[in-house]
Amino acid sequence: MESRVSSPDIAIIGAGMAGIACARRLTDDGFSVRVYDKSRGIGGRIATRRTEAGLRFDHGIPFIDASVPEMGPLLDTLLSAGSAAISAVEAGSGLSEGRCYGLPGMSGLLRPLADGLVLNRGSEVSEVARRDLWWELSFKDGRAPERCDILICAVPAPQACALLKGVGEITDPLTAVAFDPCWTFMLGFDESRAVDPSMLSGSARFIADAYRENDKPGRADLPMDCWVAHATPEWSIRHLELDRPEVTDRLRDVLLTTSDGSVPEPAFVAAHRWRYARTRTALGRPFAATADGSLFVGGDWCLGDKVEHALASGAAIAAAIVEADAARGSR
Ligand SMILES: Cc1cc2nc3c(=O)[nH]c(=O)nc-3n(C[C@H](O)[C@H](O)[C@H](O)COP(=O)(O)OP(=O)(O)OC[C@H]3O[C@@H](n4cnc5c(N)ncnc54)[C@H](O)[C@@H]3O)c2cc1C
Repeated sequence: MESRVSSPDIAIIGAGMAGIACARRLTDDGFSVRVYDKSRGIGGRIATRRTEAGLRFDHGIPFIDASVPEMGPLLDTLLSAGSAAISAVEAGSGLSEGRCYGLPGMSGLLRPLADGLVLNRGSEVSEVARRDLWWELSFKDGRAPERCDILICAVPAPQACALLKGVGEITDPLTAVAFDPCWTFMLGFDESRAVDPSMLSGSARFIADAYRENDKPGRADLPMDCWVAHATPEWSIRHLELDRPEVTDRLRDVLLTTSDGSVPEPAFVAAHRWRYARTRTALGRPFAATADGSLFVGGDWCLGDKVEHALASGAAIAAAIVEADAARGSR
């Protein structure tokens, strides 16, 4: 790796698939890159919730479709680094071949990709401002602002618009992008295999999908029968502003009153609201950027609603920066 004295100093907001993929390529190419994320971990919507009792729930994306050709090279790297496993087909398990899972949860998936990156976790950027020739980032916790030559916002479009209020050149096209929210439920049952996905969605019609965590590779240690259920977009929109206890109470009530005893009472219930879960209307190109090439915005929402779209967006931003830098001859 080559040290780049005269090349731009780059900051990336967002350590999801798009931000990490972009940071990996640029760091490997010798650029000076810092990544900021408001969470304590990395992965964004590739997420796992852990409880004190040892339960684990992949409450964001449940798995990655390993048959998508664009994901192939990355998944090969993650599989050989031991942070991912492909499911074996097991009769009646509800899992199908070609699904890739993070180990020991989905949040572990990107760990090898983030290895050696300069990551600032727990760093929520509250404001972005243009100052002469650089961008200035302010932080919610009041720490000293930081500056960079090139800024990449790899966050959902509405969050990018909130951060980049004064930069109409970039935010105007983003207003066409739309997301669906998703209320996600995490359920733990004492009885093993007491539930199947059709029982959950049959009882609560607002459940679109349900996944048994114990059936995924590397989860044999879970002390309960753990399930993740996604509410439909319609239900999630209608109940978006309820708080978590209200939402879990509704699920409990529905399961108890309509399941005829076919779904036992869960011993553990929690809910997570993804305000920007899945893209409904995409931008239609891999990223947006200012004409001077100092500000980029990207994420899955540029191209679609899937993790491969996030990867493609992050990779395209990195390629554009590498290309512009080569054209400038700053190396
Ligand atoms: C419930 C659910 C189910 C899904 N199912 C599937 C599926 O089956 N198949 C599929 O392919 N995809 C699925 N997805 C979508 C997939 O997870 C996303 O496409 C992908 O993970 C998006 O990556 P990203 O990097 O674009 O954005 P994100 O993962 O959202 O990353 C953005 C990051 O920016 C950070 N951030 C935001 N604002 C700030 C700020 N101001 N300061 C600092 N950090 C900030 C966030 O903390 C986050 O880490 C699902 C998503 C959800 C929520």
